[in-house]
Amino acid sequence: MDFEVTYTPEQEAFRAEVRGWLSENIPADLTQPVDPADLTLEQYHKLRELGRRLGAKGWLYPTYPQAYGGGDLAVDVVMILEEELDRYGLHLPPYYDSGGRLGGASIFVWGTEEQKQHFLPPIFRGEWRTWQLLSEPNAGSDLAGVQTRAVRDGDSYVINGQKIYIGSLYGCEMMWTIVVTDPEAPRHHNLGWLMIPYDLPGIEVRPMELLTAGGEGGASPGLKHTIFFDNVRVPAFNLVGGENNGWQVATTHLELEHGGGGIVRRNRIVDQFLEYCTTTKHNGATLSRNPDVRDDMVDVYVKSEINRLFGLRTYWLSHAHRPRSYEGPQGSYYRKITALEIAETMLRALGPYAMTNDPQWGPLQGLLEHYQRAAVVGLHPGGTTDIQKVVMSRRIGIGRAAKEQAGRLR
Ligand SMILES: Cc1cc2nc3c(=O)[nH]c(=O)nc-3n(C[C@H](O)[C@H](O)[C@H](O)COP(=O)(O)OP(=O)(O)OC[C@H]3O[C@@H](n4cnc5c(N)ncnc54)[C@H](O)[C@@H]3O)c2cc1C
Repeated sequence: MDFEVTYTPEQEAFRAEVRGWLSENIPADLTQPVDPADLTLEQYHKLRELGRRLGAKGWLYPTYPQAYGGGDLAVDVVMILEEELDRYGLHLPPYYDSGGRLGGASIFVWGTEEQKQHFLPPIFRGEWRTWQLLSEPNAGSDLAGVQTRAVRDGDSYVINGQKIYIGSLYGCEMMWTIVVTDPEAPRHHNLGWLMIPYDLPGIEVRPMELLTAGGEGGASPGLKHTIFFDNVRVPAFNLVGGENNGWQVATTHLELEHGGGGIVRRNRIVDQFLEYCTTTKHNGATLSRNPDVRDDMVDVYVKSEINRLFGLRTYWLSHAHRPRSYEGPQGSYYRKITALEIAETMLRALGPYAMTNDPQWGPLQGLLEHYQRAAVVGLHPGGTTDIQKVVMSRRIGIGRAAKEQAGRLR
């Protein structure tokens, strides 16, 4: 069976259009750091500007209706857009906006027409980037156990509480969160889902300096943040999905975050590792002449290909609105576990100096060093590997009388 995607002449014509547009609109001097923590404010602004240009064409969130700022494009055409951006090491959106990708989908599914008209166009056109505010000190994997409170007061909700591990460098325009709206109601029926402007009085954004640091200042000098809400008044209009229906709204973005949304590209680090081994000589022979290294090369290649094909399958199932079950968490679980294995295998093949980011001695100018760290950190966000296994098993009917349904994406 051939899983590989092929394209029609019309689709290839679209590819030519995209390629031409990108060559004119991606700044020639746009470089990206190996480690996202090293993203400069200037690089960030260039990426945001590219996002706004893509948004103006309907190419930033291209599968959504034009009426909301999308492009009304079919999934196979969007894959071409993704592939062409990938040639520049970019993706849709070209900067950290996981909140937009996930929150936009949730508003699209659960929002009223008025809310969609209000919130979606600025997100889909790149004017707002959003952060997702889910985790709390006592609620990570058990997200339904959040304690941040929202109390209705006239036309507003008043919010008090704390969120952790939030965001990225240089701030955002909007945030969305899940909060307790009825503490007396049963679990999963006690929550609300709210859009919150970043700059409301009573919001304090504090960098989590011990975990990550970086950036040059801007709105937020840190990769991850603790966010405190102290009597923050949010318009009641911003409650999406209705009273105490926040868990239902969350199932949409959780589905996407648990592997159901993003396309998985070729693993560039693996490609470069393979290239490095076939071109770098050690004791007079290329590394790939060593049978042990060759074994490692094949191992990482196979794993990265399986990841890519899982990703293509799930991306297509999600965006072509086909029935889905365990596929998202399966892909996410496999991607996280194999990232760790790939990191270990590359370290074994190249030796401890793969761990240095010294530009002269570190293989691939620090890429491998960063990959080692990122693979460990990457096990946790967006549902840990344990949680992906829990979700997968519920979907295939292990330990549950009725198989759990995948989250709604439309
Ligand atoms: C780099 C990074 C970025 C992040 N970005 C964001 C963000 O932007 N927004 C946001 O809201 N949050 C974010 N998070 C937080 C992330 O979602 C949580 O860390 C994650 O959900 C796990 O929660 P926890 O850290 O509280 O661990 P816990 O839930 O306390 O889990 C601890 C351990 O117990 C295991 N475990 C828990 N429950 C079960 C179970 N039922 N069965 C088996 N094992 C279990 C877990 O797998 C884990 O190993 C980020 C985290 C990281 C590391």
